[in-house]
Amino acid sequence: MNEQFKTQKLDIGIGNIGPAKHIANGEYDWRLVDQLTHDLLNDQSLYERGENQLPRLCADGRTRRTDGGSAIGGSFSAVIADSLGPRLYYANDITAKQHALTIYAKFRAGNLLIGGHDDDHADAANSGCGGEDRLDSKDPGAITTLQFLSQYGDSVRRTLQSLCDTKTGTNLGVKVDDSQHDIIVSHSRELHARTTQSTAYVTCGADLRDALVEAQDDSAVERLHGLHTEAVLAIDFRNGMRLNRGKVAARYGDKLNAFYVNVDCLNNMAKFLYDDAEQTDLSFVSALYFNIATTAVLADKSLRVITLT
Ligand SMILES: [Zn+2]
Repeated sequence: MNEQFKTQKLDIGIGNIGPAKHIANGEYDWRLVDQLTHDLLNDQSLYERGENQLPRLCADGRTRRTDGGSAIGGSFSAVIADSLGPRLYYANDITAKQHALTIYAKFRAGNLLIGGHDDDHADAANSGCGGEDRLDSKDPGAITTLQFLSQYGDSVRRTLQSLCDTKTGTNLGVKVDDSQHDIIVSHSRELHARTTQSTAYVTCGADLRDALVEAQDDSAVERLHGLHTEAVLAIDFRNGMRLNRGKVAARYGDKLNAFYVNVDCLNNMAKFLYDDAEQTDLSFVSALYFNIATTAVLADKSLRVITLT
């Protein structure tokens, strides 16, 4: 295969998920990452249609469901987007679980299904979803999403603005106003500062998993299996396209898979939750910040970033 992709790398990654260490171990080589990139960009049989959906599935490559849009944490992306951004459903001293229950109740009242996941080996305080478990920690040495946004918010903004169409190289840059950026970073810092106080917003991932079950039922939580093998972050800008990660796994086994984010479902979420145009836009941008920052906390610099247009 002699395709030239205009791929990008997650150069702000500070985590440990990515292809480089597996390639160094001789488990596979970059040609297999190119093959996966080729398939994600060109093979429509890997996708299903799903219009007007909310974020309901996690971006996690271990997800096997296709009945919803994908974003980090599934429906939890809507919760954190509100606390980083417009705060229409937020109150002072609220916990993330209470906040999640408020927003999930709004979705459920509109007859919309919510969702997220746990996994088969998380400890009791965790859910097994990095979007929830790594949100923040009382341990000052822990690398967390809120800490990352507090410190490296500018890098997250640059990453969003520098996203390119992987097939053509054309800039897709997500527009972020200075005022939106300033609100997201200042809310991140305030939430992060609260984590070590008695009025902490962030509690633990297990609480956030339970919020999904309380607001809906067990059907809201998918149990994921095995370890992370993502080599690619695919950001899908198309409307109503849903990657079937089970089909990716059928082809690549447990060697490699992709983090997968649907931009349209974040838009659908923002339009459903807010009437005001500024709030809608701020929620959408905040959700993108959360998705990029969490991926940077979980993955290393070798993670390949592609866009689907
Ligand atoms: Zn997850």
